[in-house]
Amino acid sequence: MRVLEIASEAVPFAKTGGLADVAGALPEALAGLGCEVTLVVPAYAEALGKGLPIEPAGIEFDVPIGTGSRRARILRCRREGQRADAYLIANDDLFDRPTLYGGAGDYPDNAERFIFFSRATVELACRLGGPWDILHCHDWQTGLVPAYRRLLYASNPAVANARTVMTIHNMAYQGTFWHWDMLLTGIDWSHFTWREMEFYGQLNLLKTGIVFADAVSTVSPTYAREIQATPGGCGLEGLLASRRDSLVGIVNGIDTSLWNPACDPHLPRAFGENDVEDGKYAARVALAARLGHAAPDARPLVAFVGRLVEQKGITLILDAITKLAGTGRVHFMILGTGGEAEEQSLRRVAAAYPGTIDVVIGFDEGLAHLVQAAADITLVPSRFEPCGLTQLYAQRYGSIPVVRATGGLIDTVVDATPETIRAGSATGFVFQGFDAAGLEHALGRALVAYDDKPAWRRLVGHAMRQDWSWQASGREYVRLFERIRAGA
Ligand code: ADP
Repeated sequence: MRVLEIASEAVPFAKTGGLADVAGALPEALAGLGCEVTLVVPAYAEALGKGLPIEPAGIEFDVPIGTGSRRARILRCRREGQRADAYLIANDDLFDRPTLYGGAGDYPDNAERFIFFSRATVELACRLGGPWDILHCHDWQTGLVPAYRRLLYASNPAVANARTVMTIHNMAYQGTFWHWDMLLTGIDWSHFTWREMEFYGQLNLLKTGIVFADAVSTVSPTYAREIQATPGGCGLEGLLASRRDSLVGIVNGIDTSLWNPACDPHLPRAFGENDVEDGKYAARVALAARLGHAAPDARPLVAFVGRLVEQKGITLILDAITKLAGTGRVHFMILGTGGEAEEQSLRRVAAAYPGTIDVVIGFDEGLAHLVQAAADITLVPSRFEPCGLTQLYAQRYGSIPVVRATGGLIDTVVDATPETIRAGSATGFVFQGFDAAGLEHALGRALVAYDDKPAWRRLVGHAMRQDWSWQASGREYVRLFERIRAGA
């Protein structure tokens, strides 16, 4: 089966969040299951500056955009040991920029950038030659691909029989733009209706993908249910409910070649379940040095790694850590980047509790690995969470997640109760309501459990043994691809 994976970010080329982890790992997982996989991403400055073996592919073409066109230069990356092929679409005007999507606000031409990327990808699929079986699109940036395949390229033999899958990684980001951007797409105005591409007067690229794709998937079964109702559907709940027969939830896996404490180059010492305490201590020493502390702290280390935005429960974290910091019971470490207000508030609490709250504002892949290895507890108090990867990484690195009961967090964390602890199925602590009291209570339960060392060791061991590799999820994607190829 020939599969084209299309994403606006993918490890190792460029990353702002979990989408990049998924789009980086899934192609290899599918290739391991017998698919012939090609990944397509934009050639951002970030991707080109990493020293990866990227070369011109000898393919160039003009992509119609509005009444004009823009040139696409195709680059290719062949990495040793990788089975999936990777192409990058270059256009320096659009992608040679310091960040992927914008700075304080989005780039004003994001519609044009990703309309170009989507159309160039379909053109590339045609030029590489077919037949393609599956065009797998991730998030709004690729939402036009299913529409292009059906409306403008249906007679091209390379994609004529290709089926399209639209995978939603976060309903909160839909790629909505003013209606005149419709002109850039080259698609006829007759499709600018509430049934297809229009959403309250605007062009909506995620909606377009959901409407035109043969199947829709999202990144956990619980989130697949949540987005068919308010508030999870963010306005598209009716459309998603109408597509319920073609909508599946497949939990993300994690790339165990990158996220594995037994061979992680970002850690000072490899560790596994049997020497987790030594491994964590070594990581703590390295983290303390990195943060400018003379020695590691003996108190439990509670961490957060993620985007500093409302969705991630930053207000809850601020409340909880301000209260707990005063008790002197724990050490907090927060790594993230995001909203200016959130960053400022976190800097303020860190300044108020030096040595107890450490805050690093920035995006640092290596530090994210080190923090997960050093931490005893990882906070994921999200308002909503399509899948969430940090709680999966935390489990693998022996850091117990404290999560809110929402989306993929429900599907991937088993609350530690007397019954689940006895049964050996517990992997974390779960709270229900999106409020600081809930987080504080769950964190309190975790800290009590932490003090019972033999029980804590068992809990950590059980969390570390969870298999979140791509094996199972990759197979579910293959089953989905086979189902739609068979026309079901
Ligand atoms: P989302 O995709 O909503 O941002 P996920 O939990 O699915 O959330 O994935 C987040 C990914 O981004 C993880 O790999 C996490 O380690 C990484 N990440 C987030 N913020 C940072 C940061 N400031 N530095 C390094 N890695 C980060």
